[in-house]
Amino acid sequence: MSFSAWLSEFNRILIVFVPCVIFGIVTGFLPLFFIFGLIIYGLWTARQLVELKQWLDGGAEIEQAPEYLGIADQHVSSVVDLQKDNLAKQKDLEDLVSQFNEMIAALPDAVVILAASGEILSANQAASVLLQIDPSTDLNTRITQLIRDPAFTGFFFAGKYDQPLEIRGAAASEPELSIRIFSFGENRLVLIAQDMSQSARIYKMRRSFILNASHELRTPLTVIIGYLESLSEHCGLPSECKTAVQSADVQAQRMKQLVEDLLTLSRIESTAAIEKNIDAISVAAFIAEVVKDSKRSVWFVDHQIHIQIETGAMLKGNAQEIHSVISNLVNNAIKHTKARTNIHVIWRLVEDDAAEFLVEDNGEGIAAEHLARLTERFYRVDAGRSREKGGTGLGLSIVKHIVERHEGELTIHSELGKGAIFSCRFPAKRLEYMG
Ligand code: ADP
Repeated sequence: MSFSAWLSEFNRILIVFVPCVIFGIVTGFLPLFFIFGLIIYGLWTARQLVELKQWLDGGAEIEQAPEYLGIADQHVSSVVDLQKDNLAKQKDLEDLVSQFNEMIAALPDAVVILAASGEILSANQAASVLLQIDPSTDLNTRITQLIRDPAFTGFFFAGKYDQPLEIRGAAASEPELSIRIFSFGENRLVLIAQDMSQSARIYKMRRSFILNASHELRTPLTVIIGYLESLSEHCGLPSECKTAVQSADVQAQRMKQLVEDLLTLSRIESTAAIEKNIDAISVAAFIAEVVKDSKRSVWFVDHQIHIQIETGAMLKGNAQEIHSVISNLVNNAIKHTKARTNIHVIWRLVEDDAAEFLVEDNGEGIAAEHLARLTERFYRVDAGRSREKGGTGLGLSIVKHIVERHEGELTIHSELGKGAIFSCRFPAKRLEYMG
């Protein structure tokens, strides 16, 4: 308590008691006037306390702060200081919240805050453009009632939000959206929808450019290869010319393979997933055919290939594509390993009645840092060596796409010096059994 507060309280006592003492002495009833002074002082103090309580109960508004003399004034000014401090902090917080709201409103992506059960708690302006959610009238409506795409409903209720969901608008004019959901706080979700039309357009343009360029290259290449082949067979060609022609032929063949792989990739990327109700293929027969052909490859140097067919399951899929998967993996096992490597080519049933096509070799294997990137286009562990062997770096990318188009999964296990295992698993719904 400050000295000035005590001084002001002392002044109050003087204001009450000095007149009482003077009247007491003048009238000769000093004790009576002293008691009278005490009562007045007590009532004054009590009134101040009641006022103080009413002020505090009424929210302690700074403008309505009571003015006192004495020690109570000290308490009032402490409360007023505290209030001023709180008001300043509240303003800072309000500024921060309004800046945050302005930022969310300015975002080109739709941002919707949801309760865990899906009710909309707030949405920004972009949500009305991209998702047709009106931030003023659609609050408390379930998001699944407004985004009626079955893919979204499935995605929302599955609750697995680690991957974005891509949905296309029903009409051609509606944007293609990438939707992500994150959980935060207590039982809250934030949904972010991004307009992908622009990047989808660029992606389509890039794909059609690759497709057109590959098509345009194919015919002249076939003609060049034809001439090179007839030239190399030409008996009168001097030996130095023959070597040059042969080397040009090898390079032209490589280019042809690259063009073919690019065309395959473009085709499988631009067509829909493979239906389930199509004819079933004999994987066992394809394995036998591919292995037989692969033994004619220039890279086949005494490799030991063991075929293991453990199931009669037939695969419902595209024959040409499944042939390409088997051929790519078997030829890789020959091309990227040394002479006399053991290669196991297996077709068998695994858990959940799924079937697995597996190619395992005991070659030099692949270092761990490359494994995750092997299925990227043009990714090669050793680009120089792969090129020498006629590799394009597109094989595993094609395999992965085809397997996924058949609802399967490609997994690669390898350790340096310990060989490699390439496994393609297809679910039971993709299998058929004869007889
Ligand atoms: P490529 O045309 O070079 O064979 P792929 O996409 O088929 O392209 O394979 C990518 C890379 O993976 C290859 O360049 C090679 O380095 C590695 N690879 C593939 N299969 C094997 C294997 N069985 N053993 C070791 N490395 C392999």
